[in-house]
Amino acid sequence: MSYLKERILKDGIILPNNVIKVDSFMNHQIDPEIMQEIAIDFYYHFRQEGITKVLTIEASGIAPAIITAAHFKVPMLFAKKTQPSTLGNKDFYETNVYSYTKNVTNRVIISKKYINENDRVLIIDDFLANGEAALGLVDLVEQAGAQVAGVGICIEKSFQNGRQKLMDKGLEVFSVCRIGSLEDQQIEFLEGN
Ligand code: 5GP
Repeated sequence: MSYLKERILKDGIILPNNVIKVDSFMNHQIDPEIMQEIAIDFYYHFRQEGITKVLTIEASGIAPAIITAAHFKVPMLFAKKTQPSTLGNKDFYETNVYSYTKNVTNRVIISKKYINENDRVLIIDDFLANGEAALGLVDLVEQAGAQVAGVGICIEKSFQNGRQKLMDKGLEVFSVCRIGSLEDQQIEFLEGN
């Protein structure tokens, strides 16, 4: 069994509404070795894709994304939920992302300065559920005229429809681990990525 699956079984806490709390190693306290192993998986899967930028959304995507970007030797960019006072009103792309866990819609932005039509972007996030966060990032990449080279997910909840929505857009999705069911408080993993 992979390191990440073992850690989820050991330390993951299943909350109501099919939410898994992983804040002892991923979402609050962060285990750099787990992040490193996740990043290596992403690197090996997408290494032929000519990635020029890794994109995520704050806050939980940042840890896996920065280490992944270090393997590709490219910059990591994260979509911000607040507009910095230093960024003028026309200097960014924006989209709305509904948060599954917090039940709020966030307007998220990225500066036009850091992405352009020559970029091949690898989108990274900690979880994939209904695909709102990943699709919001895809929208930002498309507004910039750049290409999405793929989507890398640490923990996919495959019983929700995020993967299907991304595949319907013709995108390559690679998940380090896939959860098939959380029924009866039991975590069941799917084989494959
Ligand atoms: P989606 O946008 O695909 O519906 O949900 C993915 C986003 O919601 C991720 O950015 C992640 O932060 C959050 N999320 C979704 N499901 C879970 C979960 O089970 N546990 C945690 N910790 N975050 C989740």
